Amino acid sequence: MIAWSQHAASRTSRLRPSAIREILKLTQRGEVISFAGGLPAPDLFPVAAIREASERILSKRGAVSLQYSTTEGDPELRAWVASRYAGVRPEGVQIVSGSQQGLDLVGKCYLDPGDVVAVAAPTYPGALRAFEAYEVRFRAVEIDEDGMVPESLAEALESGVKLIYVIPDFDNPTGATLSLPRRHAIVDLARAHGVPILEDSPYSDLRFEGDPLPYLVDLAPDVVIHAGTFSKTMVPGFRLAWLAATPEALAPVTRAKQAADLHTSTFTQMLALEVARGGSLDGQIAKVCEHYGSRRDIMLAALDRELAGVSGFRWTRPHGGMFIWVSGPDEFDTTSTAHAAIEAGVAYVPGEAFYADRRRTDGLRLSYSVASPEQIEVGIARLAAIFRAA
Ligand code: PMP
Repeated sequence: MIAWSQHAASRTSRLRPSAIREILKLTQRGEVISFAGGLPAPDLFPVAAIREASERILSKRGAVSLQYSTTEGDPELRAWVASRYAGVRPEGVQIVSGSQQGLDLVGKCYLDPGDVVAVAAPTYPGALRAFEAYEVRFRAVEIDEDGMVPESLAEALESGVKLIYVIPDFDNPTGATLSLPRRHAIVDLARAHGVPILEDSPYSDLRFEGDPLPYLVDLAPDVVIHAGTFSKTMVPGFRLAWLAATPEALAPVTRAKQAADLHTSTFTQMLALEVARGGSLDGQIAKVCEHYGSRRDIMLAALDRELAGVSGFRWTRPHGGMFIWVSGPDEFDTTSTAHAAIEAGVAYVPGEAFYADRRRTDGLRLSYSVASPEQIEVGIARLAAIFRAA
């Protein structure tokens, strides 16, 4: 008999289960209205376009689409991705199996044990988990409604940082968008300190208002590795995404990818490109933006109505994406109110999960992507009642 838990590598002790998944399990019970998951709305998936595209591929290039292929990815898909970014060549695109794999591979190639990663506080827990596996430490950087605060990043860089992780558009969890002056300030800081930036941009296409801002990789392809994905614009189940940077930056990543899974599904790459080229992607993005935009409006109106009177509470007003961040008064504990909320039939993700040190408990994340307008109205009223009583 092998005592597996004692036999396991020490790094596995850092692989904690996701707090969000634990909450999601509870929300599957009965009548709980869930603002917890970050799932794209399944009713909007372009199922018909995908079915037609897959029939075209199977009838025209069936065998090729089902064969092994190169680690870097389908050359045509890489060219399509490169065409979206100034300064990125097709050779500077690595196709990956979800941007989550991209985060893992960047961690594997650029982080040694003990290295420090600068991350916003709060930030995406999936990134914390991915980097943690490489036995790193985190340095928290302040974030406000204009995104990561350059002065706070500058302080972090003074104390020694190996990688800067940024979600510039419609951040998960805060919904914040990094302003243009801050984009310039952050790439300037990265250049001055010789520290690369990992730009994680899964939500950038989901803009409901305002003009698009340049990607960090467009401003500074020499210091940025950009991660983009089809998960929020097409479907997450394809597990199809990309890293875009200089070929030099991606060279070790390609070798690590080869060791991890040889390559991303050939069929899925061809399928996504066929859907994108067929013109369905732009229409799909417009549809998703209209849907999420109207849900955001309903949720903000409900928060303004229900929570405005509850002392010390405030919330963000995202211009796109899927998330609103609510902060309570200092010392408010959204972890302990989460269970009462589920009892009352509404779920959110307690803010604690989004901090590397898990010390702050006054925030929480709401997602408006899957709830119906009625559920949003009822759910926010229930939440306000819980907070008023707490
Ligand atoms: N980064 C962020 C900020 C995310 O919110 C997500 C999805 N929740 C991911 C990466 C992973 O996305 P993918 O489906 O491309 O792996």
